[in-house]
Amino acid sequence: MSYLNQPDYVRYVCNCGSLKPISKIYFCRYCFKIRCGYCVCHEVDSHYCPNCMENLPPSEVRLKRNKCSNCFECPCCFQTLSTRAGHVPLRVAPPEGEDSKDVKTTPKKVYYLSCSLCRWTSRDVGIPDQSVATGGWPEQENPHISRINALIEYHKILASIEKQKCDKKMYSLPKYYYTPITLFERTSFSRLGHSNLVRSYWLRNGQNEKPVHQYVNQPPPAVASEEVEELRAGIFTEPVDITKITTLEQRLRHPEVQAENVNELRPQHRQFFVKKSLRCRVCEHNLIKPDLCPHSIKFKVQLAAFYHVPEVRIVTCEPLRPGKSSELLLKFCNPTPHQTQITLLPLDTPMTSVVAVVNEKEEIKQEDGQQGSESPNLLPSIVRQVPVAVEEKPIEITANADLVLPHSSLILPRKDDAAEYDYSTDTHNFQDDPKLVIWRKGNKAVIKLHVTPHESIEENESQPVIIGFVMQYGYVNTITTPEHKAPQKLDLKVKLYLTVGNIVGSA
Ligand SMILES: [Zn+2]
Ligand SMILES: [Zn+2]
Ligand SMILES: [Zn+2]
Ligand SMILES: [Zn+2]
Repeated sequence: MSYLNQPDYVRYVCNCGSLKPISKIYFCRYCFKIRCGYCVCHEVDSHYCPNCMENLPPSEVRLKRNKCSNCFECPCCFQTLSTRAGHVPLRVAPPEGEDSKDVKTTPKKVYYLSCSLCRWTSRDVGIPDQSVATGGWPEQENPHISRINALIEYHKILASIEKQKCDKKMYSLPKYYYTPITLFERTSFSRLGHSNLVRSYWLRNGQNEKPVHQYVNQPPPAVASEEVEELRAGIFTEPVDITKITTLEQRLRHPEVQAENVNELRPQHRQFFVKKSLRCRVCEHNLIKPDLCPHSIKFKVQLAAFYHVPEVRIVTCEPLRPGKSSELLLKFCNPTPHQTQITLLPLDTPMTSVVAVVNEKEEIKQEDGQQGSESPNLLPSIVRQVPVAVEEKPIEITANADLVLPHSSLILPRKDDAAEYDYSTDTHNFQDDPKLVIWRKGNKAVIKLHVTPHESIEENESQPVIIGFVMQYGYVNTITTPEHKAPQKLDLKVKLYLTVGNIVGSA
């Protein structure tokens, strides 16, 4: 798995034209296409606190400004603060006439916040100890709160007017494509008392649109001023003690105050994390859907490409010289529970995929455990089949070496988890070309290819040698539809670019 975090030597071309390593792409098994982060809709499924694992509905999350009310983080090192208990002797005032020495001091339990990593405590900055462990910690007031609230109110009105405009204009499109994503989308404005205002705006305007600000009280815009505070007299002469000045990161963690000195830092509420689901933009099926429970790391749907598309790795490459042929060893791995056939084709091959064989008699083999169930919030098929032109980017990379492609195809058996631990010699009966396939075990095989870098590459330019090819692989579609009851066999294609190394010498 550590291989997946290394620099991207092997990159797959997504249908949008971006190049991604296999660990960062998804495979839509409804469109049979590779999808990258740009080709999927990112949707927030749930918010949770990474410390106390509290899971809250979106409306409450917005009220709490995406922050957990119970957990705090250290303002210095951003670790979670823990509540510590301490005792302070509580002196009771002696009754009159008695000696103060005889009065007993009863210890009282108090609580303070402490960072176990950098040893920062709430006592350091003079925050009074609390008598209850659950909090009641003083909140720091935002100095610009009234201005921010005025701006939020104003933009809520603008957002609701804009949303109504969109609703009117685009009613003919399917819902999914026109729902405007505004910041205050789910704000109920009847509660805020804006509905009459918005309605009157529409009644007065009709078709002729007038600027919105005529009907809404716009807060006064911010004005730039030339007068700024004078610098302290000793700023250039006094020695700087960097242990007492906050870092840029510490200031930006708390943008409303941006404390300059370390003793002005206050504990901050912990930010919520989100669980995201990813949806194919074309067919609207879920490609990634996490389990909603914050404790779970499982997925309901997990269509990452490394479970469906053969993985290519560079094993070794001989030293590369311009115009000279070098040996390149590539390893192919079949992650699916079905046998696949891999054919390498030149880069200019058309990328249309063909349904090769429809074998009605073939039995449904074991389902891939990773594929999971279908999304429960799947949209009806009428909405789903809307064609969307995904804007295609040109591929920004060109191959600068020739690759001699093999004439025969490579057959890879299905992935068998038990075989991974079987160290006995493999018995397989594939009629391999010994010049092409040099190693084979389970669902993996290593093939030998020859690379000839172009003469034009100079050694000192440190320009990497890049090769490219189209990999055609057999994919078995196990999704059954009323039209296709049996699994469908398809030949899919994906374009790959491999950075095989640098030029090491002229000849
Ligand atoms: Zn893409
Ligand atoms: Zn929490
Ligand atoms: Zn700390
Ligand atoms: Zn799709």
